[in-house]
Amino acid sequence: MVPAIVTTPGKAGSVRLADLDAPSGGPPGPEDAEIAIVEVGICGTDHEIVEQGYGAAPAGRDQLVLGHENLGRIVHAPAASGLRPGQLVVTTVRRPCPQGCAPCAAGQSDDCLTGDYTERGIKGRDGFMAARVVERCEFIVPLPDALDQVGVLMEPASIVEKGLMEAVAVQQARLPWAPHTAVVCGAGAVGLLAALFLRLRGLEVTVIAKSEPDSLPARLLAEAGARLWDADEHPVAGLAAELGNIDWIFEATGSASVAMAAVGALGRNGVGCLSSVTAGHRTLQLDADVLNLELVLGNKLVFGTVNANRRHFEAAARSLEGAVQRWPGLLEGVVTRRVPAAAFAAAFTPQPGDIKTAITFAR
Ligand SMILES: [Zn+2]
Ligand SMILES: [Zn+2]
Repeated sequence: MVPAIVTTPGKAGSVRLADLDAPSGGPPGPEDAEIAIVEVGICGTDHEIVEQGYGAAPAGRDQLVLGHENLGRIVHAPAASGLRPGQLVVTTVRRPCPQGCAPCAAGQSDDCLTGDYTERGIKGRDGFMAARVVERCEFIVPLPDALDQVGVLMEPASIVEKGLMEAVAVQQARLPWAPHTAVVCGAGAVGLLAALFLRLRGLEVTVIAKSEPDSLPARLLAEAGARLWDADEHPVAGLAAELGNIDWIFEATGSASVAMAAVGALGRNGVGCLSSVTAGHRTLQLDADVLNLELVLGNKLVFGTVNANRRHFEAAARSLEGAVQRWPGLLEGVVTRRVPAAAFAAAFTPQPGDIKTAITFAR
């Protein structure tokens, strides 16, 4: 029996412990590895699945194993995979669409064109909140043991890394690109990781968030040479007057109005990565002429980014390792709460000061 945390998508509040007959995603085939899960992080997507009935069970079933932000160790894997028992690993989340669209066929299901992809723990595929999981080796990314304490941040880190990698690639292709000033909107796990990864790239980083000056995010950011400004005292729309030309913005607040303000605040030749999944239908008044004119006259580039593929996970592992070396102990501070699987309900009940909560299986 494999203990797991499951839910019935569409039925709010149905999250529960269950015993699976086989590892989540299993039983293993010849190209699969079995993984013992160390811990799994919780994010807004999990809360939406649990509280608002978002998400989809695998075809023909009504139960979904939760969890996508995974960290585990190999139990066994085919010899040809190069994965050895005990190896620390993270598994990517999205799987290609059955039609095999061009991006999916190229290993970039994060850019799937049909939308018929599946995602472990979210859409049509069992997730990682189980003591044991099974996955095809091609979707498993080995991690250095140095990431044992913070590897649960790999999935959000992969999303950040994708946004930053794409920004660099496009900016370098179109401009002499020597960015200096970066703004990150939001001080959740994604915002903090974006700030750290931008610091690793040598940027001067200001994070805008609804957060007290002596809060944990503010202290963590100060340690990395970045600063946290309160969103009420420093509205995003007015940032250019305070910071000068803003070369790079990473938006991760979950608020469309902040995202649009960020587009407006972006400087000449700047690049804006938008990563907030805004599920509502709020309307907002914008001065469309001014916004358009600024985008045009400023050669500004704004793009959306979601999910991540193997390449981004591999790069994120290098960035996380870089952050661990440069700021020892800092990333540990981002994982603010660990809850054993048996007490999972506490993990889904937010507490003041939470940044990243992890459900532990074998730590
Ligand atoms: Zn997540
Ligand atoms: Zn596809």
